[in-house]
Amino acid sequence: MFEKILIANRGEVALRIQRACREMGIKTVVVHSEADAEAKYVKLADESVCIGPAPSAQSYLNIPAIISAAEVTDAEAIHPGYGFLSENADFAERVEKSGFVFIGPRPETIRLMGDKISAKNAMVRAGVPCVPGFNGALPESAEEIRKIVRTIGYPVIIKASGGGGGRGMRVVHTEAALLNAVVMTRNEAQAAFGNPMVYVEKFLENPRHIEFQILVDEHRNAVHLGERDCSMQRRHQKIIEEAPAFGITPRQRDKIGARCADACRSIGYRGVGTFEFLFENNEFYFIEMNTRLQVEHPVTEAVTGIDLVQAQIRVAAGEKLSFRQRDIVHKGHAIECRINAEDPYKLTPSAGRITQYHAPGGPGIRVDSHIYQHYMVPPHYDSMIGKVIAYGDSRSQAMARMRIALSEMVVEGIKTNIPLHLDLLSDAAFLRGGTPIHYLEQKLANINRPG
Ligand code: ADP
Repeated sequence: MFEKILIANRGEVALRIQRACREMGIKTVVVHSEADAEAKYVKLADESVCIGPAPSAQSYLNIPAIISAAEVTDAEAIHPGYGFLSENADFAERVEKSGFVFIGPRPETIRLMGDKISAKNAMVRAGVPCVPGFNGALPESAEEIRKIVRTIGYPVIIKASGGGGGRGMRVVHTEAALLNAVVMTRNEAQAAFGNPMVYVEKFLENPRHIEFQILVDEHRNAVHLGERDCSMQRRHQKIIEEAPAFGITPRQRDKIGARCADACRSIGYRGVGTFEFLFENNEFYFIEMNTRLQVEHPVTEAVTGIDLVQAQIRVAAGEKLSFRQRDIVHKGHAIECRINAEDPYKLTPSAGRITQYHAPGGPGIRVDSHIYQHYMVPPHYDSMIGKVIAYGDSRSQAMARMRIALSEMVVEGIKTNIPLHLDLLSDAAFLRGGTPIHYLEQKLANINRPG
């Protein structure tokens, strides 16, 4: 096992990884920007290195600074967390070439899955169900593009092969709007991702977002840890996640989960990963794979009892999985609410000093957060300041525990989305289960409507 790991991230996930390391007896090095010098996990680390000023481009995305921090502290492995450099194949390559272990998949795998066209083709070959469409880059010829889209049928969605973060996508309802949409998405994709390639697939009108967690070691042992429902989203960003997903049968779970695990074996995957699907009319359609730890991993930990960060570190060190698929038991129900420093309804970010903080607790409640009273939420980064996870024997017990936890939680001095979560936790459709991905956007539009 490693003796020392460098954590190349910030905020709650830096603390989460640090806790896993401490439990395993591994020393931690935390790199941080000038804006995060006072953070709790920086003080708790065995060593810390300031890698640059507040803007991420000069600190958390600064590859040479991170590699030299690993060199001067003698770390053996680098954990990238999520976001920042976690899905950057060039970073993974630089880490390995410099003689450190990258806690994640091989650089080639990150590259393969980071390009959406090649990812989709790999999944089609591996027998994972995908959104119907044309499995290649769209050609130049207008006539050929029209022909391809006619065979799929409108509405369709034009997507950038190099896209991410909900950007580089355009829905097209009629042939009249097609070519313009292709050209605009191409231009945007070139400007934002340096890759003009776009592809097309059927636009699903009212799906849910359901994703599968997988875990794979270096010895071709691949298991799935079931699914999560992440349909509660605003601006294509998840805010509530739960496991298991409402209405998914054990049979569907086993079938799709096994396909994902097989696909991992076929592409030589290693580490933790997530297969994201849209789910409509009782069918799953693959949209993309995330080759890293997810924000919402705690709900899976709660229902399976498996610590995903520790498992991730163990497989990165070359250990074999200590359990097989049939040993994984799903028990109870877990819900996660992401706590964001933002206006709950207008969604505008709200950085600043936290003047009062009371964390919730009680049976089945887990709080993953780096904040504390007098903590200064910096304006430079993502607005998420923590996560509350509620576990119960049933979905309704988990919901009730979450409602109590959030009603006890106090964060003052900045705005948070706790009021929105409390609204949702008493929303009849959400409580019934199975709300689709556009549900929250529609609800917010109704709330924000003038007059
Ligand atoms: P990104 O990498 O930018 O997150 P995804 O491929 O995961 O892109 O898609 C992001 C979101 O866009 C999905 O969660 C869904 O809301 C919407 N979306 C993507 N593909 C489709 C599709 N074929 N039909 C309907 N909605 C889609």
